Amino acid sequence: MVVTQFCPKCGGLLVPIKKEEGSMVLRCSKCGYEISSQQSTYKIETTTSDSTRIRTTSVISDGKAIARKKEEIEQEKEEYYKELFLELLHEEEYGGEET
Ligand SMILES: [Zn+2]
Repeated sequence: MVVTQFCPKCGGLLVPIKKEEGSMVLRCSKCGYEISSQQSTYKIETTTSDSTRIRTTSVISDGKAIARKKEEIEQEKEEYYKELFLELLHEEEYGGEET
C-alpha cells in the first residue's frame, strides 16, 4: 500500500522509511522533516471524530430548539412579515402623497 503524503513544512514529497526499531516514518525528500506515520494517522482520526462529535452535538441541540420553538418562530415570522408589509404599505402611502 502506497500512500502519497506531502511535507507540512515545505510541501515536498514524504518518503516512507523503515526505522531500525521497525517503526515507519515519513521523511521529506526536500527538507528531511520526519513524521511517524502511525502518529499522523492517529492525529487525523482524532480530529475527524472530534469535529464530527461537535457537529453532531450542535445539530442535535439545534433540532431540539427548532422542535420546541417551531410554533413560536412561525408566529414571530408572521408578525415580522406583517410589520414589514405594513411598513411597505405605509411608505407607499407617504410616497404617493409626496409626488
Ligand atoms: Zn519538507
